[in-house]
Amino acid sequence: MQEKDCLFCRIVRGEIPSSKVYEDEHVYAFLDIAPSFYGHCLVVPKNHYKNILDIDMKEICAVFAAVQKIAPAVMKATGAEGFHVIQNNNEAAGQTVFHTHFHIVPRKTGDGMVL
Ligand code: 5GP
Ligand code: ZN
Repeated sequence: MQEKDCLFCRIVRGEIPSSKVYEDEHVYAFLDIAPSFYGHCLVVPKNHYKNILDIDMKEICAVFAAVQKIAPAVMKATGAEGFHVIQNNNEAAGQTVFHTHFHIVPRKTGDGMVL
């Protein structure tokens, strides 16, 4: 189930352009518009869930399966040696788009970035 005005539902539907990095039956992944590091991408369920507490178990498994495919591919493409998986829940924890999503942030040794 999607929501009409949700930003990430609209990206999944193709109403707002995105740089797709992966797609399957349950999951869509695309580059973050304001990357913390080169190759920073977002992995979202195609259905709308506000946060990690709302998401259907089958779909969270699909999202994690996608993360396990996407992260190595992103590291290979960017030359990264490691990555963060970050997931924010609710405004107090920094969530700004209320369609649950996982950030994959590639890292290189000595890149100097502090998260
Ligand atoms: P949050 O802060 O909710 O964990 O993460 C939301 C992320 O969505 C941010 O990293 C932000 O840069 C990204 N974002 C916000 N609007 C857009 C957009 O229109 N397109 C893309 N590709 N990313 C977006
Ligand atoms: Zn949504």
